[in-house]
Amino acid sequence: MDDDTPVLDNHMHLDPDAARGMDAVDDFVQLGGTHLLVVNKPSWHLGVESTDPEDFRSVFETTIDIVADATKRLPGRAWPILGVHPGLISRLIDDRGCSPDDAADLMQRVLDIAAEYVESGDALALKSGRPHYEVDDAVWEASNTVMKYAFALGADLDCVVQLHTEASEDLTEIADWADARGLDPLHVVKHYASGRLAGPTPSVMCNKEWLETAAEHEAPFLMETDYVDDPDRPGAVMGPKTVPRRVRWLREEGYDDAIEIAHVETPKRVYGIDTRRTLG
Ligand SMILES: [Zn+2]
Repeated sequence: MDDDTPVLDNHMHLDPDAARGMDAVDDFVQLGGTHLLVVNKPSWHLGVESTDPEDFRSVFETTIDIVADATKRLPGRAWPILGVHPGLISRLIDDRGCSPDDAADLMQRVLDIAAEYVESGDALALKSGRPHYEVDDAVWEASNTVMKYAFALGADLDCVVQLHTEASEDLTEIADWADARGLDPLHVVKHYASGRLAGPTPSVMCNKEWLETAAEHEAPFLMETDYVDDPDRPGAVMGPKTVPRRVRWLREEGYDDAIEIAHVETPKRVYGIDTRRTLG
């Protein structure tokens, strides 16, 4: 980058063993990336197929370790976001024979463990949500229960809850659920958002059209790739260089204010992180 602008990817996964790991971080830095929010991979991608909540601790420990490694390579730093992928509910029901209620209960216990790491300062935020694919009513209800529980934890801990949900430009109902539990909807972040979203704060995927929409809108937003670091799906979602590339593009297009909003102001207002002071 031709200036000292922080460049944050708000949602990336890194895999220490199976894939590119730190090479992906180096690619990000090479193009001007400075800060990362690293979300734990879905537990089944890290070999955890258990119904014992304690077994999920290894997923969180792995993520915390790789964040420490990434921080050593970044001009800024990385932070972990820990939680439960909403798709777990279907795996627990279809593969492990859980009822929707049992699955929801397990997912809440795993969120309790993620919350311990937030409370101790080892993680920045929680991750929850609901399936982005069609499920029956019982599974939908159970998923909403889990997400509401995550909001209550976020309110207790005063931390952000990142969401994985269906594609939508209006999640005001979800924002109301957060609000009712004492969590400011600004502190609910919808990962994989398009350029406009009513309710939670959008974390916009780096599609140029969506970024342009968000930049014109002048509301708080973040930028992300959802880089998956999966050697079996090399073309899946976006590569680690994409956020810094799109920041350059926004600069060329004259969206300087939007860059400040997505990489400095929104990170500070939403997560309480100072991307400028933690740089260099
Ligand atoms: Zn993701």
